[in-house]
Amino acid sequence: MVEQDEKEQARLRAQKNSDLIARTLPPHLKSQEEQLVARFMKHSGNYFSKLKSLYEFMDDLLEFIQKFTPCKKGCTHCCHIEVSISKLEVEYIRKTEGIKPAKEIITGNTYGSPCPFLKKGSCSIYKSRPFVCRRHVTVDDSSKWCRIDVCNSINMSLLRFTEVNTVYDMLVIESGLIKQTDIREVFAMRK
Ligand code: SF4
Repeated sequence: MVEQDEKEQARLRAQKNSDLIARTLPPHLKSQEEQLVARFMKHSGNYFSKLKSLYEFMDDLLEFIQKFTPCKKGCTHCCHIEVSISKLEVEYIRKTEGIKPAKEIITGNTYGSPCPFLKKGSCSIYKSRPFVCRRHVTVDDSSKWCRIDVCNSINMSLLRFTEVNTVYDMLVIESGLIKQTDIREVFAMRK
């Protein structure tokens, strides 16, 4: 019962913080987010440069959101849960980091095992990390409910930006590099 109360309080805190972020988002970021799909429709670059532009915009959002989230370097809870990655992002990592994916998908239970790019408690491909890693931002006041033994027991709201998600889906679909796998399945065997 006490734990249920704690979860409900955490859920409400996160919701309150999400609302606060939406209300206080600086006007230039708000208008960029609202026009993101239109901007990307006009973007003349290839899919990699479009993905890079999307990541840069997400970096700008994160800079503002930083003060509302306990997410920080050294916290690695979400590097131990599923990390779903599209073929577009696999190719992006190959191109930007020079890391080849495995020739064959390596299947297995990925939940709980660290992402292969987690090195000494931080992300070794931080600039090229996948969309899902950038989007997974908790806005509770601590990372208590991000722990892998409890995170699935709570329906905590994470930050969502509608046009950011739409642009990502658009890029993946239009590039044709759609296939989704867990990051460990494509990079676990890299040399
Ligand atoms: S790519 Fe980086 S941020 Fe994403 S799960 Fe792996 S180590 Fe964590």
